[in-house]
Amino acid sequence: MSGVIRQAEENRSRSPQFGEGDRIRVKKRTRKGVVVYEGIVMPAAFSKNIVIKLDSGYNIGIRPENVEIEVISKAGGEKGRTPLHAETRKEKAMEREKPTISILSTGGTIASKVDYRTGAVTAQFTTEDILEAIPELEELANIEGRVIYSILSENMRPEHWVRLAKEVYDEIKRGVDGVMITHGTDTMGYTAAALSFMLRSSVPVVLVGSQRSADRPSSDSAMNAICAAKVATSDIAEVTVVMHGSTSDDFCYVHRGTRVRKMHTSARDAFRSINASPLAKVHYGSKSGAPRVSGEDLRIEILDANYRRRGEVEPELRAHMEKRCALVKFYPGAEPEVLEFFLERYKGVVIEGTGLGHVSSEWIPKIKEAVERGVVVVMTSQCLYGRVCDRVYDTGRDLLRAGVIEGGDMLPETALVKLMWALGATNDVEEVKKIIQTNIAGELSERTCIILTGD
Ligand code: GLU
Repeated sequence: MSGVIRQAEENRSRSPQFGEGDRIRVKKRTRKGVVVYEGIVMPAAFSKNIVIKLDSGYNIGIRPENVEIEVISKAGGEKGRTPLHAETRKEKAMEREKPTISILSTGGTIASKVDYRTGAVTAQFTTEDILEAIPELEELANIEGRVIYSILSENMRPEHWVRLAKEVYDEIKRGVDGVMITHGTDTMGYTAAALSFMLRSSVPVVLVGSQRSADRPSSDSAMNAICAAKVATSDIAEVTVVMHGSTSDDFCYVHRGTRVRKMHTSARDAFRSINASPLAKVHYGSKSGAPRVSGEDLRIEILDANYRRRGEVEPELRAHMEKRCALVKFYPGAEPEVLEFFLERYKGVVIEGTGLGHVSSEWIPKIKEAVERGVVVVMTSQCLYGRVCDRVYDTGRDLLRAGVIEGGDMLPETALVKLMWALGATNDVEEVKKIIQTNIAGELSERTCIILTGD
């Protein structure tokens, strides 16, 4: 046993017994004096630290050396936070009055822990582990679940999206009230878009992740998962992404799966809806310390009422993806051969052009040749916000003449996924062009671009 661990355990044994959900006061002796923290004990997963949620809503981890702990109040009561053990959970009869959510786990930080031998974060939690760490989920719903993948989301491929869509569809057909997918945050937007095109769902399908793993102070995994479960029991029967909405633990946003983008490498409120309002907010009552899952503490505020309601459609699965599609970013000085590589090998290419949707004049003849051979080329903008409009400047007009399709106000990655999906459905280029320009899953506002006149 290492010295640090032995000391931690000795410290714990000298402290009064405390557990998850208890309110404790921790006096920590530091070189600068004694610091006092007070808050609710959180699940610490594999950490040796004591993790508490302060009244500000922020989680902190305190090394257990040189601490004195006083238990202010025990969790207990009607809402004890002691996690159910797997067997108890399995034996427990499903409560009929509660909805049933199926959690499909794919990996990512929300399903990860630090491997203390290597220091690396690896995806290795099962649904059971998630429930052990976040027992509130079972207050909201009967939870079922299984592991579909245990991968970091940078390892996702279109084949993974197709299988996942089938798994979600099976769950919906089985009659669950909502599906929650735990997923790495890096490519969650792509998967959300892919599922949005492949599934017409009659129940909520919610993707959720976390930026910081459960064993780290300030982890966002519990709050995100609780908010996601709330959405999975709501009437928002679309594919959505539910993640922290601000830097505090006060609300999550519900983003439409085709409009959402990870916009920050590490902040907890990294996800934004682009060119659209989030569909809703989930208010999270953490002011009193531990999260509470009932009543007014956890509630949904609709921001855009234009969403598909539970039971509005019959579930439908259109699971196909053409892998030979690429997303190519134009940059000043990009040689035409950069694009040519893809145009020669792929069936469809989405370009992330500059501004209203431009590339240099050198690229245009290459695009024209490829379009004549049947390659579908879609233009989006690296500005992300706003619409592509190739009718304003010469290079844009030349691109339209070369046969480029304007991607409207679609996100570049959503346009890529849509192109894969459309080319997976048909080889008829005219049909594919029509699909690209039709709003299928809220990804596109069907307006024509406004021609800027300069006056
Ligand atoms: N890169 C990993 C992934 O996307 C971890 C990031 C995360 O989940 O936040 O799966």
